[in-house]
Amino acid sequence: STESNPIVATLFPGDGIGPEIAESVKQVFRAADVPIEWEEHYVGKEIDPRTQSFLTWESLESVRRNKVGLKGPMATPIGKGHRSLNLTLRKELNLYANVRPCYSLPGYKTRYDDVDLVTIRENTEGEYSGLEHQVVRGVVESIKIITRQASLRVAEYAFHYATAHGRARVSAIHKANIMQKTDGLFLKCCREVAEKYPEITYEEVVIDNCCMMLVKNPALFDVLVMPNLYGDIISDLCAGLIGGLGLTPSCNIGEGGIALAEAVHGSAPDIAGKNMANPTALLLSAVTMLRHLELHDKADRIQEAILKTIAEGKYRTGDLGGTSTTTEFTKAICDNL
Ligand code: NAD
Repeated sequence: STESNPIVATLFPGDGIGPEIAESVKQVFRAADVPIEWEEHYVGKEIDPRTQSFLTWESLESVRRNKVGLKGPMATPIGKGHRSLNLTLRKELNLYANVRPCYSLPGYKTRYDDVDLVTIRENTEGEYSGLEHQVVRGVVESIKIITRQASLRVAEYAFHYATAHGRARVSAIHKANIMQKTDGLFLKCCREVAEKYPEITYEEVVIDNCCMMLVKNPALFDVLVMPNLYGDIISDLCAGLIGGLGLTPSCNIGEGGIALAEAVHGSAPDIAGKNMANPTALLLSAVTMLRHLELHDKADRIQEAILKTIAEGKYRTGDLGGTSTTTEFTKAICDNL
């Protein structure tokens, strides 16, 4: 049984509020008897020459070996000569798709109560290829890379996700009227994949129009797939629709079946160490990890306990207008399990 043979998963508690909210996940998983054993890794204090980053080669190997992990927020040290931690993870683990389910939380009122969409962001190229340089003084250049291979891969994932999760529609978000070559190729790849999934409705929406539609009526959307920069912006916009970064889960899909779930928010240095952080985003991210492992019973139970706790409204953290501490909120979730 899985009880005697636990699944090993990598855990990066991260910086700032990271260790506090990671502790909350560990407690909830224990209370729900989730058969997972955490292998904890922290960001190093020195640059590892093998990764050119503060992330050690050993910690990356841990994710490659376990194929599944959970990551708290990491504060990228500012300075020269090293790669950003998140960029290192994306590149080294080839995390090509960032998936963010975004749904209204019952009992937590925002302007909208019928949001139920998923953003799928291409995560390896576009404007984030790191190819920036100065041409001459006063003129700089940034190169946007779009490849057929990466576009097909993320489009495939979007349609696979839609099929696996019973979703009806995939919208490709673009600006191909201006970026004719790059976004044009992205769309061409999406169309090719769409043809293989006739049961799923496929549409193309220009990014500016998409933004307007999202704030007017987010229920118009189902699954959205898009290149890197648009995905960065739209996914945060969608987090705002449901109440903010403390609530939004995300999961990164990498080649070879890797899934690294992570909270969307940063390390919140302003409230770190004060037992004030909302662990919901990391908890719901951990739930996406359980779904990836097909531990659906555990995932459902934990998700229901989280939503119930928020809906009851008795225990809420400060960002949701409550006065509960992280530990009180966590205990309430455990009691609701
Ligand atoms: P942030 O998300 O850390 O904080 C923005 C605001 O949201 C703050 O007021 C914070 O208190 C609040 N907040 C965020 N998460 C919360 C939670 N779980 N519960 C309650 N309140 C929460 O963004 P920032 O201040 O721009 O960045 C701080 C650091 O985090 C930087 O070093 C940045 O590089 C890093 N960062 C990391 C990630 C990541 O690892 N994925 C993402 C974004 C930022």
